[in-house]
This record gives sequence, C-alpha cells and structure tokens, in this order.
Amino acid sequence: MTATTYVQLAYLVAAVLFVVGLKNLSSARTAPRGNRLAAVGMLIAIVATLLSKGVVNYPMILGGVAVGSAIGVVLALRIQMTAMPQMVALLNGFGGGASALVASAALLKGTVVPGSVPSVAIALGAIIGGITFTGSLIAFAKLQELMRGQPLVYPGQQFVNGIMGLGAIALCVMVSIQPTGLEAYAGLVALALILGVTLVIPIGGADMPVVISLLNSYSGLAACATGFVLGNSGLVISGSLVGASGLILTKIMCDAMNRPLTNVLFGAFGAVDQTAIAAAAGGERPTVKAYTPDDAAIVFSSASTAIVVPGYGMAVAQAQHAVRELMDALEARGVKTRFAIHPVAGRMPGHMNVLLAEANVPYDKLVEMDHINPEFPETDVALVLGANDVVNPDARSAKDSPIYGMPILNVDHARQVMVIKRSMNPGFAGIDNPLFYLDNTMMVFGDAKKTVLGIVEALKEV
Ligand code: NDP
Repeated sequence: MTATTYVQLAYLVAAVLFVVGLKNLSSARTAPRGNRLAAVGMLIAIVATLLSKGVVNYPMILGGVAVGSAIGVVLALRIQMTAMPQMVALLNGFGGGASALVASAALLKGTVVPGSVPSVAIALGAIIGGITFTGSLIAFAKLQELMRGQPLVYPGQQFVNGIMGLGAIALCVMVSIQPTGLEAYAGLVALALILGVTLVIPIGGADMPVVISLLNSYSGLAACATGFVLGNSGLVISGSLVGASGLILTKIMCDAMNRPLTNVLFGAFGAVDQTAIAAAAGGERPTVKAYTPDDAAIVFSSASTAIVVPGYGMAVAQAQHAVRELMDALEARGVKTRFAIHPVAGRMPGHMNVLLAEANVPYDKLVEMDHINPEFPETDVALVLGANDVVNPDARSAKDSPIYGMPILNVDHARQVMVIKRSMNPGFAGIDNPLFYLDNTMMVFGDAKKTVLGIVEALKEV
C-alpha cells in the first residue's frame, strides 16, 4: 500500500469516529464518550494530513499549532459557562474565515482549471466563509453586549440584502468559470463580508440561538468546500458532518422558537415592534408580591408535587448544586420534584442539562417541555429559578410581543408559582413578563444560589 492509501484509510477511520461520536452526543449520558471519540478522530485526521505529501513547510505549521493551541487552552480554561455562545460564535467565525483564506490562497496560485470542481469550491468557500466570518463577529458582538442585542432594521432591508445576494451569486458563477479573474474574486469576498453583517444585524433578542447554530452549519459547509479545493476527503467529510448536524440543530431550535426555517434562511425573522416594547416598558406596572425564603419553605412544606424551571439566572448564580440540595430536601419530605427543560433556556443548547448533570441531578428527573407542560395544572409549586423569557405567557397570547409564538413552559397553570430572581429586570428578549404579576405568583427576590440555600435551611425548621 502507498502512503496515500494509508492517509485515506486514516481519514476513513476518523470519519467513522466522527459519526459514532455524533451519535453518542444525542444523549446526555453518552455525550462525554461521544466527545472523546470525535476528538480521537480529529487527532487521527490531523496526523494523517501532516504525513501526506502535500505538506511543504512543517516549521510554519508547528508554529501555528503552538500559537493556536496556547490561545485555545487559555480561552477554554478561562471561559465562563454563561459566555459559551460568544465563544462558539467566535470559533464559527474563525472557521469560516480560515476557509475563505484557503480558497483565496488556492486561487492566487493560478493553477485552477476553469469550470472544474476546485474552481466552483473556491467560489463557494469564499462566499460561505466570508458570510460566516463577519456574521459570527456580529453575533459575538451582540452576545458580548459590545453592540445592541435588539434587531437593527431599516426600510428596504430585505430588498437590499436580496440584491446583494444575487450579486454574490453572479460573482460566484463568474469566479467558477474564470478563476483567474482577481477583480471578480475580490468583489465576491467583499460582498460576502458585507452580507455577513447585513444578514445578522436584523436578528436579535430571543432569536440569537437560531443564528448561532445556523452560522455553525455555515462554517461546516465552508470547510467542506475547502476540502474540495484541497482535494482532502477528510475535510470534505468533517465539514459536511458539521454542516448537516448544524442544520439539524437549527431546525430543532427553529421548532423550539416556532419559526419556519425559510424565515431563518432569508433573514426575515426577529424583527421587533420597538414602539410596542417602549409602550410596555413605559406603562403602569401592577404591583408584585414579594416573599422571603422562609415563606417559600412554608409553601413547599404543604406541597406534594414541585417542578423546577431553571433558566439563565441559575447558570449566572451557579445555583445547580444548591438546587440539587433543594431537590434532595423536598424528596426527603415526600415532595415529587422534577425539572422542566426548555430547549432555549440559558444561553446555549443543552445549557441546563449540562449544569444539572454537573450537580448529579438524575437524568430521569429532567423532562422536556412537551412532556411536562400537560402536568403543570396538577402541580402544587412551579419554581422558576432565574428563568424569564421561557416562562413568559405573552408568548402565547400577546400578538405584538417579539416572542409571540415561541412555545413556553406553562408554569402559570400550576397552583402556585414561585419566581426567584434578583429584580424586575427583563431577560434576554428585553421585555416585561406578566407572569410576575399574577395572583398565584410569589416573587422571592435574591441571587438564585443564596435564595435556594436559604429555602433549604428554612425547610429544616418547618
Ligand atoms: P432570560 O435571559 O429570559 O432571563 C434570565 C433571568 O435570570 C433574568 O431575568 C435575570 O433577572 C435572572 N438572573 C440573572 N442573574 C441571576 C442571579 N444571579 N440570580 C437569580 N436570577 C438571576 O433566561 P431564560 O433562560 O428564561 O431564557 C433564555 C433566553 O436567552 C431566551 O430568550 C433565548 O432565546 C435566549 N438565548 C438562548 C440561547 C440558547 O441557545 N439557549 C442562546 C442565546 C440566547 P434579574 O436580573 O432580575 O436577576
């Protein structure tokens, strides 16, 4: 067997590990094994690539690996769980940018045959990679609050985006047919970079999770195109797996937000009626009923069923261990306790599952939205722990609300709702929540961790 055959075989083994790894990621129980398998697959693919005969400059590659690994290790160690979406956005952006750079390098070599697969792939790598790069930077800036998180809309936005999109497609065709035309290529890259910005700025608020997973998918497609440019089957396979799984995740997120995928693809979603929000914010607010952890413990002492709804505030306060203690204390008193998981609770897909797993909350206690919603009317206490948008009843009934149509956890149907948060501040979507003013809602103001530990202590006395 030749060295090339060994390299191809190694890519095959890596591809199998990626697929098996992805399959394992579909359940929280097997996800760590899935991660390890995929990482081993990636190591095999990298070593195989370094051994292939196309490599001409090892010192430069090793230098890049050293610098990149150092930055990666520092970022991974320092990043807060709550800042994970920003990190993912940045990584998607770098992936897209790298693909566009490889496409450019291949074009500048001037050896690409017009109309060939590599020439089409160069055009696709440039457009998808460029859009992913700047789009992800905008997503990062919004999530990091470096720019306003609300959608930025202006008259004729869809039309202008449509014209630029058509222009980019025309340039793609020109570059594919004539890959030596540098002007067309420069125009394509410039238009792709602008499109990345203009496609993401109109999206904001509660729709950001969909954008992140869509950009993740784009970064995979860009890598796949780069695989065709370089004739590297390993990159084609891994890129298409990222593209496909990102698209599946996008579909799942769209369903969770009740938005059709076509709306996402054409960037026509997330537009918010700012006047309605301003009116709601400026209007008279009804009063809320504030209680203490001691009061909460008394309510729990006469309950027989409880459902905890964790949200972003639980992640901020790192209250997952405290809530595990509360669950143990309630179960010891005979209160049947479960956790309701909303698909977009927190700031990344699976955020709540990861945190509760870290605190060893048994998997069978975590119930998905569709399964738990019918149970709220029969539940004594729904404890909303640092969640807000995912329990906002306006999503069901207020047509002018930016989150109208998003399926929510129906906590207001429970006999008693208990909300733990620090203030009346809104959540990610930036809107008020009528849940807090309902007759059956008690607000227990305070940091999620401290308040839950306060309830656990108070339960010992009642
Ligand atoms: P929200 O962002 O709606 O609300 C979180 C609440 O937590 C806030 O109202 C805040 O109120 C409270 N909070 C913050 N810190 C603390 C603390 N230390 N202790 C107690 N409470 C605290 O969260 P949800 O989980 O309900 O909804 C997620 C939102 O994020 C959705 O709009 C979703 O679309 C969006 N999103 C989700 C992503 C995902 O992939 N899951 C990605 C990006 C966005 P206060 O300040 O008063 O304490």
